[in-house]
This record gives sequence, C-alpha cells and structure tokens, in this order.
Amino acid sequence: MLCTIGITCNWLEKEQRNALHNDYVEAVVKAGGLPLLLPSLSPRLAGAIYESCDGFIFSGGHDLDPVFFMEEPRVGLGEITPYRDDFELALAGLALNGEKPVLAICRGIQVLNVAAGGTLHQDIKNISTQLHDVQSPRHHPVHQVNIEPGSRLACILQDTSIRVNSFHHQAVDEPGPGLKAVAWSRDGLIEALEAECGELPVLGVQWHPECSCERDVYSVRLFRNLVLECEKRRGS
Ligand code: MN
Repeated sequence: MLCTIGITCNWLEKEQRNALHNDYVEAVVKAGGLPLLLPSLSPRLAGAIYESCDGFIFSGGHDLDPVFFMEEPRVGLGEITPYRDDFELALAGLALNGEKPVLAICRGIQVLNVAAGGTLHQDIKNISTQLHDVQSPRHHPVHQVNIEPGSRLACILQDTSIRVNSFHHQAVDEPGPGLKAVAWSRDGLIEALEAECGELPVLGVQWHPECSCERDVYSVRLFRNLVLECEKRRGS
C-alpha cells in the first residue's frame, strides 16, 4: 500500500474555497506517495487528521497572523487567513510532538516555527535588500542557499550549497524551541529548519521544491526522502 501524504490546502477567504497548486500533488506522486488534500478544518479535528496520514506537507500560502508570535501587525504584512492558521498550527503542534515525517514549504516552515514558539519577520524588505520574491519562472533557481554540513537537510540533498527559487516576503526570525536553522541565504536569512532531535524527520524549507521536480535533483530528493521516511515507519 502506498504511504499517504496529507497536504494542507490554501484557504481562499472570499471564495470560501480550499485550493492547492497541482505541483504538490505531482511531486508526491513522482516520489511514490499517495497525496491526500487536507482542507482547513476546526482545530478540534487536527488530531483525527494527524492519525489519518503517514506523513505531511505544509504548503505555501498567505501570511500568518502575527498574534501567534505576540506581535501587532506591522507595515508590509500581507493578507492573513485565520481559519487556515488555527487548523494548521494545531496540526503542526501535533507533528512537532509526534513521530511522523513532515516537509514544510514556504508558509509551511513559518507555520512550523510559530507552532514551536518561534517568531517571523513580517516583511523581509525591512531587513534585507536581497530580493526573495523574484519575478521568474517558478522552477527557476534565483539565489544561493548554504546548508549546515552534517544536518538532516545536507544528508538528504547530498550537498551544502545549492541554488533555489524564491517567492516569499516573510521569513523565520527566531527558531522555536526544538527547531534549529540549517540553511541560510547570503543575506543571512534562515532558509531551512529541522528538528533538533535527529530522530524526528521534520524539515522545513523557505523555497518551493514542488515547482522544480522536473528539472532539479535536489527538489526530487526532498520529496523522495519524505516518502522513504514514511515507508520506513510503516515497515514497507
Ligand atoms: Mn529566499
């Protein structure tokens, strides 16, 4: 039986719709997993959702409400989606205290960090002149990322310096307890987090590997590793 990878959806408030770019679905299928789309739900149901999948992808989307890291909204904050925040933060909290594999992408790394008690930069234009929201084809790598040698991420990618695409205007500021920074762009922004506990296969990246699985071996390795970790736990 294929391992099931639950993928959180974006929440479109005006349309009252759950939505997900098909790149995530194709990346999981290509990696040998079975994608299951997870709607935003009442946080009460996060436990049942956590039990229902072998692993999880926290996908990209809108900004997090800064109330969750004890800040008032600042200039540069974009649209927030409180319904999605509540559900995903509950699910990420379970994931941080569980054992199941997680790949958190873009907004996902921010959700993971805030669920762990960390903080975000509400708008990185205030702290860096390097562009992280580049107008380019979505698969195209636009900036360098340096990766901590010996980290889980470096082992998965089999490299310590890669180029990545970049579509974000927020970033991790202070990593939450239990998470550590393992990759940085040249301007010093955190581009990846992983669990401090080496046993827990929880990883977040600020870039979008789902856009480049057709062209980039590093992107393929991230999704393949997620599915492999799920298969290991299932003993299949
Ligand atoms: Mn970036």
